[in-house]
Amino acid sequence: MTPSPRIGHGYDIHRLKTGGKMVLGGVVVSSDISPIAHSDGDVAIHALVDALLGAIGRGDIGQLFPPSDPKWKDADSSIFLKTAMEEVRRAGYAIGNVDLTILAQQPRLAPFREQISNTVSKLLECDAGNVNFKAGTNEECDAVGRGEAIAAHAVVILLPIA
Ligand code: MG
Repeated sequence: MTPSPRIGHGYDIHRLKTGGKMVLGGVVVSSDISPIAHSDGDVAIHALVDALLGAIGRGDIGQLFPPSDPKWKDADSSIFLKTAMEEVRRAGYAIGNVDLTILAQQPRLAPFREQISNTVSKLLECDAGNVNFKAGTNEECDAVGRGEAIAAHAVVILLPIA
């Protein structure tokens, strides 16, 4: 039987604090506010890792990188993404395309759109054209809209390696 494409969805949210740096998709986007997290709190990458793991039926980011493990304190989330991608390849799949949505009232993310797509596609070892990045503000609704949190959604489709 020919293997089918696999789809995955990931979601993440972190509370924000004043000070420290904010990394999104491996790119520093602010040095005034930052996520409260055990790792570097890169919500874009965390959502994407969950989407990849979901697509191959391997659970979630917390199972692979438990926040209780001191090893992941302040960890560069790029490591999580590279590891998840290794799992994807081991399962016999490659990236079809990725759609990433970040919701943040601040900072303004539009200027980082291309840089984030490029950085994420390099980490995934796929074409930058296969990684779409969108940013919204949540229209001042809920914790994200009040600037107290940052959230991300990721959808990925994986194609069987021929
Ligand atoms: Mg997270």
